[in-house]
Amino acid sequence: MKYISTRGQAPVLSFEEAMLTGLARDGGLYVPEQIPTLSSDEIAALAGLSYEEIAFRIMQPFVGGSFSDGEFKEIIARAYAGFGHAARAPLVQLAPNHFVLELFHGPTLAFKDFAMQLIGQLFQVALARRGQKVTIVGATSGDTGSAAIEAFRGLDAVDVFILYPHGRVSEVQRRQMTTPTEANVHALAMDGHFDDCQARLKDMFNDFEFRDSVGLAGVNSINWARVLAQVVYYFTAAVSLGAPHRKVSFTVPTGNFGDVFAGYIARSMGLPIETLVVATNQNDILHRALSTGEYRTSEVTPSISPSMDIQVSSNFERALFYAYGGDGGAVAQLMDELKAEGGFRISQGALQILQETFVSGRASEAETGAMITRAYAETGEVLCPHTAVGVFVAQDHLGTTPMVTLATAHPAKFPDAVEAAIGLRPPLPNRMADLYERSERVTRVDNDLTAIEDLICERRAD
Ligand SMILES: *Cc1c(COP(=O)(O)O)cnc(C)c1O
Repeated sequence: MKYISTRGQAPVLSFEEAMLTGLARDGGLYVPEQIPTLSSDEIAALAGLSYEEIAFRIMQPFVGGSFSDGEFKEIIARAYAGFGHAARAPLVQLAPNHFVLELFHGPTLAFKDFAMQLIGQLFQVALARRGQKVTIVGATSGDTGSAAIEAFRGLDAVDVFILYPHGRVSEVQRRQMTTPTEANVHALAMDGHFDDCQARLKDMFNDFEFRDSVGLAGVNSINWARVLAQVVYYFTAAVSLGAPHRKVSFTVPTGNFGDVFAGYIARSMGLPIETLVVATNQNDILHRALSTGEYRTSEVTPSISPSMDIQVSSNFERALFYAYGGDGGAVAQLMDELKAEGGFRISQGALQILQETFVSGRASEAETGAMITRAYAETGEVLCPHTAVGVFVAQDHLGTTPMVTLATAHPAKFPDAVEAAIGLRPPLPNRMADLYERSERVTRVDNDLTAIEDLICERRAD
């Protein structure tokens, strides 16, 4: 399988190369040249298989050539061995025809572990084979950073630097980034919002001299391997609810559009997904874009679902690429407009294509809090605030088709918001109960590209 850039001007790469690179050199994102499909019989045959076996069957055609089947099976087994639930991604029923898919049983309690644990194993095998070292730099609104640190801590061939917005992540998120003791882990608290962190990261990728000198690699949600890992649980959930014989819909709490884009890939592969509901918090650029066609950034307003406090939704570029019929030139033009003018208008034709797959909704802060309260009272389920945004928005789309809302984080990761809603502080799982006692290690940095690049050059092991 070959990978091409959404902006049409970067070299065509293999799976392994696209994974190790992250962002394409023309500023675009890598997508597979074709999307492989599964027949109805092949989907039906997934019923009853383990998460790992389904993961292998779904991902193998995308990986082809970069890893042998045996190697890839072992990588998958290692990636999910540390999860705290044998099903990996269990489904829980909330109401008639409404289910939540618990994606928070990984080591850092958010769905990011599904992709990051796999990427950690893939990098280790690929880098050992190449005798190569890389510097991973990530920007995070909280969960990507902790998942990346957990996946890469202690690996010889990798230094990992994570930029997070100072003071804007939850205490559990921060501690998961600042308490690992391994020398290859570097948590950097930057002044600004997540979008500022993401912008500095993109600047580093566009500084080719720096990029090549440190062997920069990106594991943000723009990395294709992350999207791919997330395709798997759409299949496991849909099959356990009756696919391919029955259609299923999904509601996805969304920030950078990575998780919901994985749903789009699953649908393109032949999984009978009726609707993908994009759920945003008050930072609702995606809801506005999908309902009006106008993609326009505004100020980020901090919310109780901080991992979705995003105004520049990186993976949306991939959806635009497909909606524009694979026209990289058109996508490049939209992205230039975004940079110069803070927004763009989606063409009528492309908007129509997007609206055939995606619908959207938003939840205010009050609606999110009230949803946590109500779900607890009616079902006993304790929702994290991101999941509550999803469950709230999903209610407008319930019908005869089963609806699966993705539960993206464990409630204990956001105890303040949960306590405000239900009067109880959800406990951390036993395996990380001492998180609040461990000592922290973090470096404060200004929102200044040169200063950050200098720090990375100085800290990384040669
Ligand atoms: C990252 C994250 C999201 C948003 O996911 P995207 O792939 O960026 O859309 C939602 N909820 C939680 C808990 C997250 O960590």
